[in-house]
Amino acid sequence: MASFGGIEAGGTNFVCAAGSGPDDVVVEEFPTLTPGETIARVGKFFRQHAVAAIGIGCFGPIDIARGRITTTPKLDWQQFGMVDAVREAAGVARVAFDTDVNAAALGEYTWGAARGVDTFVYLTVGTGIGGGAMVNGNLLHGLSHPEMGHIRIPHDLATDPFPGACYAHGDCLEGLASGFAIEKRWGLRGELLQEGHPAWALEATHLANGVVNFICTLSPRMVIMGGSVMRGTPIGLVSAKAEAALNGYLVMPDIVPPALGERAGVLGAIALVQA
Ligand code: ZN
Repeated sequence: MASFGGIEAGGTNFVCAAGSGPDDVVVEEFPTLTPGETIARVGKFFRQHAVAAIGIGCFGPIDIARGRITTTPKLDWQQFGMVDAVREAAGVARVAFDTDVNAAALGEYTWGAARGVDTFVYLTVGTGIGGGAMVNGNLLHGLSHPEMGHIRIPHDLATDPFPGACYAHGDCLEGLASGFAIEKRWGLRGELLQEGHPAWALEATHLANGVVNFICTLSPRMVIMGGSVMRGTPIGLVSAKAEAALNGYLVMPDIVPPALGERAGVLGAIALVQA
């Protein structure tokens, strides 16, 4: 079977993969350094593992049509032409480019929890929060791409006086519920907060309020929630709080973890070029 390449380009780590699917794939992960250093490692990986084409699921915001990262707070990567750089470093003619979360959604649609589900949302809750969507079997794009982490949600300052940690919006969803926000609010990284710490119930409340907006806007048949912060957040509590907030008005979709786990993004990047 032909081998394809996938890159999950994250702000913290890059994950490269070569193969044809979850059961036939070689994966290498390394930290995101400067564009020059990072793309050199990408090139090295794909010169060792020949592939027919490469899909990139990239942190954003990105300009999909121009193959660039745009206004990221990571200064080294602002306006970086990712597609051209990967094409040149890897010596591959065909490169596809989408958001990291759209790629992860496609991975779950192709091999994971969303097989046969034509309309769903994939959310990742990690250092930041991002969302991708499949709508009637197509990844959702638009003027640029959805930025689901930056929606506004109700913020009860009496129970959560934290002002929010988004550099652009303060208390948007990402500003209240990302891993970065957890660390700023509690002074500890999420992985150091015990089960039962009040952080997790508050986290579930904020995420449920976000999910309710996506349910009401996109009518997803399923919401998949992954990312490092979901290791500590009880997904059943997010679902219960979302259902309570909807107050019987709509049928609740299933809220589930990604079946491909942390491989959803890089496998989905392969799926971007496999069709
Ligand atoms: Zn924001």
